[in-house]
Amino acid sequence: MSKFDNSFTDELRQRLSLVDVISRRVALKKRGANYWGCCPFHNEKTPSFAVNEEKGFYHCFGCGEHGDIISFTMKSENIDFKDAISELADMAGIKMPEIKQKSAEQIKAEETYIEITEKAAKKYQDLLYSDAGKHALEYIKKRGFSDEMIKKYGIGYAPKSDIISSTFNNIKIDKLTATGLVRVGSYGPYDFFRDKLMFPIFNAHNQIVAFSGRSLDGSEPKYINTADTELFHKRQTLFGFNFARDAIHRKNRSIVVEGQIDAIQMQNHGFGETVAPLGTALTEDHIAILCKSNRNIVFCFDGDNAGQKAAVRACTIVLPFLRDTSDIRFAFVTGGKDPDEILKNSGVDAMCKIIDNAMPLVDFLWDSVNKNYLVNTPGGRAQAEKYLKDCVSKIQDKIFQNEIEQEYNNRKFNQWHKWKKQEYKNEIEIPDVDIMTINILKSIVQTYPEISEKYMDFLVSLNISFDEDVKNTELSIKEAEKFIISFKLQIEIKKLEKNKKELLSNALNGKDYDKDLLKDIDDKLKFYKDKLELLLDVNK
Ligand SMILES: [Zn+2]
Repeated sequence: MSKFDNSFTDELRQRLSLVDVISRRVALKKRGANYWGCCPFHNEKTPSFAVNEEKGFYHCFGCGEHGDIISFTMKSENIDFKDAISELADMAGIKMPEIKQKSAEQIKAEETYIEITEKAAKKYQDLLYSDAGKHALEYIKKRGFSDEMIKKYGIGYAPKSDIISSTFNNIKIDKLTATGLVRVGSYGPYDFFRDKLMFPIFNAHNQIVAFSGRSLDGSEPKYINTADTELFHKRQTLFGFNFARDAIHRKNRSIVVEGQIDAIQMQNHGFGETVAPLGTALTEDHIAILCKSNRNIVFCFDGDNAGQKAAVRACTIVLPFLRDTSDIRFAFVTGGKDPDEILKNSGVDAMCKIIDNAMPLVDFLWDSVNKNYLVNTPGGRAQAEKYLKDCVSKIQDKIFQNEIEQEYNNRKFNQWHKWKKQEYKNEIEIPDVDIMTINILKSIVQTYPEISEKYMDFLVSLNISFDEDVKNTELSIKEAEKFIISFKLQIEIKKLEKNKKELLSNALNGKDYDKDLLKDIDDKLKFYKDKLELLLDVNK
């Protein structure tokens, strides 16, 4: 604890509401001076966990746990003091005091680095408004950037000449190369970024640590970034995060888009919580950064093939971060457009609609599995099932994992095996089944997917639509299975009796009939009736 001065933890306690923090995990209701909920530290059904917002502590009258905002975060997430402080600081949107002891030399080097990158950014900005940067300014204005936005994001222009290496020729070359802005070739130092529209990349402390340069002559790649340096790691950096941080906290969600210009335009059209990876695929580090504030993310990708692939990838990366309180969604911008174009051509409302209609992760995963595998063949279904199973196993919260598994079992039964109906349609004629029985069957199917799987062929042969929502059955799993077996036997008996009646009426009308068949039917009838009696007997 000594590593932090007390004023910082006090500031956290002051900035954050204890009720807010606890409410992320426990449903609280106000009663009198306190808020009450079911204790997260012991198993209980009636609330004995009290939270006093004013005094800033909680107390459980069931198990005796008590503490404040920091101990709650440590205990409920099973993390140490430092991590709890860091998470709360993120929640509060305030900077963590630096605790890592850096050598004086290291601090000096970092200061020089930042000094160079910030000065370079200033130089690039000036150049954007010079003759040399005319075409760059024209381009960015055409993309809908105002002077104000250009200033806010520090956008600039790197000319075709070696502007950085010549302007900073009083600085030691190894200090320049450390920033990635200058490289040394066989003819001496040269600038890495040339004829590029420059987007500064900020760290969490709002300092410029790197740049992303966009080509202006249509050459590929569209964007090049500073190669990783001591202070910049592409896989751990989200473009726009420094600007989005407060909004992510305030709006309790983040939006991830594919491109930097998209992120800027989103931020300036009311979606302040938007960020973008830096021309790379999303990484676990990216998700971890976002999940520090909250676990509610909307991924907004292009509707094309690449966008779908990126979404599937994001889905597998985010799964280990999923909690039962998370809201992870996938939105797609279709028609070969990106968020920037939607905002420009169709307006903010259209974009709102796309975000609002984003698909929940559970549905997205199901959807993509059905798209990517031939689920109308047994082999395809097996592959799809393996993939789904693998995905679901990545969810850390076991109870939540179980729920999702059940959900997919239901879907597998209701959607994948529907096609079997056709196959059976004309083979088995079911004697009238009353509506009550049908409803019991439906609720069994809904409640116990494992029974559905076991008696799938029989259930499907009934040609009843099971996909409508009904109440869960009150039968135990054993009773439910007995119900299905006895129902199956009754149907067999009814069918056999119908056959027997036909046979006998033929005989009465003087027609030929198969005596052996009649005996066969009688034997079977006895067998089924005995079995049914035994089953019902055991039931008593
Ligand atoms: Zn308790």
